[in-house]
Amino acid sequence: MSVLVVGSVALDSVETPFGSVTEVLGGSAVYFATAASLYTKINLVAVVGTDFPTEHIQFLTERGVDTRGLEVVEGQTFRWVGRYDYEQHITETLDTRLNVFADFHPTLPTGYDNSDLVFLANIDPDLQCEVLNQVSGAQLKVVDTMNFWIRGKSESLCRAMSAVDVVIIDESEVRLLARSHNIVAAARSILKLGPKAVIVKRGEHGAIMIGDNDYFIAPAYPVDQVKDPTGAGDSFAGGFLGYLDRAKEITPQALRQAIIHGAAVASFTIAEFSIDGLRSLRMADISHRYQELKIFTHFNDKENDL
Ligand code: AMP
Repeated sequence: MSVLVVGSVALDSVETPFGSVTEVLGGSAVYFATAASLYTKINLVAVVGTDFPTEHIQFLTERGVDTRGLEVVEGQTFRWVGRYDYEQHITETLDTRLNVFADFHPTLPTGYDNSDLVFLANIDPDLQCEVLNQVSGAQLKVVDTMNFWIRGKSESLCRAMSAVDVVIIDESEVRLLARSHNIVAAARSILKLGPKAVIVKRGEHGAIMIGDNDYFIAPAYPVDQVKDPTGAGDSFAGGFLGYLDRAKEITPQALRQAIIHGAAVASFTIAEFSIDGLRSLRMADISHRYQELKIFTHFNDKENDL
């Protein structure tokens, strides 16, 4: 089995209360692929400029990521500058430079169109739609986004959302998109577009999956220091889809297990800057936190309760 991802491959500059980094490896597709490659084979679709360090491409290929779909074109790589502080507790975007992404139109390399699962990571929703048009027969299609695209391209984004099975979205972004303060109501309005489920990411408060008739409420893994939250959502998606591809089934149970995998993987990402928290991560480390989350959320009924 394999997972296709289209998203950003970036050079990020990030400042948090615990330090700062300049032009380090980042991007939604990179976080996703780095996490999901622990589980399965990843086919990556993106573009970088000729300034992109080759060692980053080598890092991805060494993890088994298929980078035939990563085009290198004349120009500058996508750049993102963000800041995170204690008070706001959210990542604030200071600058977004699309650079080579501005003129990118992906053509899938041979074999990519047979990918079993498809993840449209945070990127221009028109590009997400272009990729969707080139895949046939995927068992599960999932889309993610962020405020930049909600503000700039909401119509295209709604088109992408109406063509997928699952929408993964941050809580502040679902509120912005649906123009509703209540995240359950906001997620319900996304469901009306067509997806079967909406997974709302809530940072340290975990995630909630909302379907037509059900809910799954998942915690975040409790960590005592978040060095850099960048990429938490993308690596959550990497654990989620990576697990589903490896499990080879998309049942309600598997979706729940996949969310817990996502939570476990994301807890490693935020412990370090860039993808450093994932570099030497092993499946055994993820499984350990998965089991812990099972224990942390378990409670027994008392027969005569109440
Ligand atoms: P996350 O923290 O999971 O939302 O993902 C952060 C990553 O998304 C960073 O590595 C950025 O390079 C990338 N990113 C930030 N803004 C955008 C954007 N407008 N489009 C695509 N990727 C972005």
